Amino acid sequence: MRFCRRNWVALFFGGSVVCTTICCARIQRVPYTGRFHLALTENIEDKLGEYQWQEFEKENKGKLLPLSDPRTIRVQSVATKIIAAMNSGLRLGTEFKINGHLGASRDFGDKVAQYFNFKSALAEAGFKHSQKRDRNFIWKPATKHLNQRNWEVYVLNTPEVNASCHLGGRIVVCNGLLDIVDNDAELATIIGHEVGHAVARHIAEGIVRLFLMLSALIALIYALITTGDSTSRGNVDGLASLQDMFSNLMSRRREAEADYIGLMLMASAGYNPQVAPKVYEKKLGGEGGIQSTHPSGMKRAKLLQKPKVMNNALAVYKEVKDGEGVRSFV
Ligand SMILES: [Zn+2]
Repeated sequence: MRFCRRNWVALFFGGSVVCTTICCARIQRVPYTGRFHLALTENIEDKLGEYQWQEFEKENKGKLLPLSDPRTIRVQSVATKIIAAMNSGLRLGTEFKINGHLGASRDFGDKVAQYFNFKSALAEAGFKHSQKRDRNFIWKPATKHLNQRNWEVYVLNTPEVNASCHLGGRIVVCNGLLDIVDNDAELATIIGHEVGHAVARHIAEGIVRLFLMLSALIALIYALITTGDSTSRGNVDGLASLQDMFSNLMSRRREAEADYIGLMLMASAGYNPQVAPKVYEKKLGGEGGIQSTHPSGMKRAKLLQKPKVMNNALAVYKEVKDGEGVRSFV
């Protein structure tokens, strides 16, 4: 059998994609939800994170508030409690740094958290998934990226109602968001969500996913063009918009996961988790939709209010308040 030029190109392209993925990505388990994902290696994430942060600083020159600003101190104080609780829940080392300052974990409790059936709860909140039973933690969740980390938390002086988690886990809260939160529990909802993204390495996962989807798209476009079909152009446009839609849908799923992890973190830090759904519903509303990167505020609230989810968070919260320490999530 003779290989035509198109087959050689396809073989070379497919081989390059497989080799790049094997070298740059790892299958890992997400802490708190137990979901498996394919994410960039920690080394590559750190290097890309440094580069991305330098670009972010250039773009926002003079807008990052100094660490001595009361608004930054407030955000740093809530973030310290959230990260200390995360360190305890994942049974990491007892020390971590936040903006260069040493922080200590909360006390460890002797209870073990139930493994959250993330897929089932997502489905009930309107997110599609396959109904597969979850297994126990034979494959431990990945926590190497969180161990003895120097966390960085900043306030960006803009009126935007937004917060973000950057590649490598730097967290930025916009001043406009601080203006609409009424208390530290509401702020903890937002910081918990951003720390949730860092815990689950969502950007490192998103980059691999995007790389694989773009590779598949390029391969399909190449196949359609080389067939010389007159409807190729229409097919290519259709595939591009499908890719956009798929990418956004995946992103919404990661947002929902960050909401869940954030809920467990705020409860572990001693903030009432019942505050979180109200924040998403009343303060961070919005319609959402298939082309949106975030689920609507209503959907986010509904997912967190599910009895299985909220009762679990309330139990974690009660144990912390009763002085029993933070239960194990690993
Ligand atoms: Zn988010």
